[in-house]
Amino acid sequence: MIHATLLAVAVAGGGSHPVAPTAVLVATARGEISIPISAQRGHPAFPVEPLSRLLPLSSAVRNGWAMVEFAGVPFSFLLDAPVLLDGATVVPMAGGAYLSGDTLFVPLQWLTDYIPRRFHEAYRYDPLAARFEEVGLAAVIRSPGRPASSSRRPAPNEFGLRLPHTVVVDAGHGGRDVGNIGLFLPRGINEKHITLAIAKRLEAELERRGIRVVMTRRTDRFVGLRERATMCAAVCDLFVSVHVDALSRTPGYQRANGVHTYFLGEALTAEARRVAAMENDALRYEAGGALTQDDPRLFILKDLQSNEILRESALLANLVQSNAARAHPGRNRGVHQNRFVVLAVSTRPAILIETGYATNRRDAQFLNSPAGQQRLAVAIAEGVVEYLRRYEDKTSSAGGS
Ligand SMILES: [Zn+2]
Repeated sequence: MIHATLLAVAVAGGGSHPVAPTAVLVATARGEISIPISAQRGHPAFPVEPLSRLLPLSSAVRNGWAMVEFAGVPFSFLLDAPVLLDGATVVPMAGGAYLSGDTLFVPLQWLTDYIPRRFHEAYRYDPLAARFEEVGLAAVIRSPGRPASSSRRPAPNEFGLRLPHTVVVDAGHGGRDVGNIGLFLPRGINEKHITLAIAKRLEAELERRGIRVVMTRRTDRFVGLRERATMCAAVCDLFVSVHVDALSRTPGYQRANGVHTYFLGEALTAEARRVAAMENDALRYEAGGALTQDDPRLFILKDLQSNEILRESALLANLVQSNAARAHPGRNRGVHQNRFVVLAVSTRPAILIETGYATNRRDAQFLNSPAGQQRLAVAIAEGVVEYLRRYEDKTSSAGGS
């Protein structure tokens, strides 16, 4: 589903391209290198790694994303999708970044079209000579970005936010739906208690940053999944659902640890389907009962998978995940797509964060400790604020201020 929708954007925005070269010469004051151009996926792409010896560039692949930092600016490619995230800007590409063996290839368009525009005084590309050039003293890069201020815009608060925002914070489960019972949580403490504790701290951290918060629950009570999602309606910027993961007893299951974040989409992996089944299971406490793959209640997913919300949700998920992963003692398990009912009904960017594993001793201790809960709350709040700042930048520049 996501590939089809993203592809449509790329076709609409791609434009025509000259015949791709078989190699591009990259020239700097420090030396030159010729990089081979591959068309094995139907669009010109190049291996990133050789360039890192010459240009201020590094790359990493984690959990379906390729992170490429260029001159201190992070770019994210969702692997095999023709799209690039540059801060809050989603840039359609003629084709996606991909792995071939262990080698990361990114679209040539990024290097030859996008980088010269993004760092306009620092790099240029001559298509006739197939030559990418670092210009003059440009190796010392200023952060490009937009002009820092405009007299007509309201002044930012100390966290960089200029506009009022409302965030819905959803403490997963509650009441008769206890969530997972948590192998390494103390007796009487279940997922629903941990999610509420983190959610309350997240509420405080967001409010401290000038953000209005609506809680789906503030006590140990049952709230239906769709009722939660509809709380992010007219006046709502985004929706964050907080959960704790747990694995069933299979060999080695106690070793799995770390944090992962989901946004709405098709469940692409068995792991994602497992988590969706667990979190959607709360439906059995509601009228209508449990969910199957063909349930009409999932049809709403189709309607709401608009490009805009998907992209915004992907960006939000990415920012929250990277902040949360830094605060977490366990693994960075990355960003994934999944069919969550609680996300499906939201008409705003919505994410679900699995803050750790109650079946892992260290994760469970972290999640049950005030210090751990606080670290996660601060990290999630930081990710949310980062997202809102970028959203403000984007909407204000789109408005021509
Ligand atoms: Zn849960």
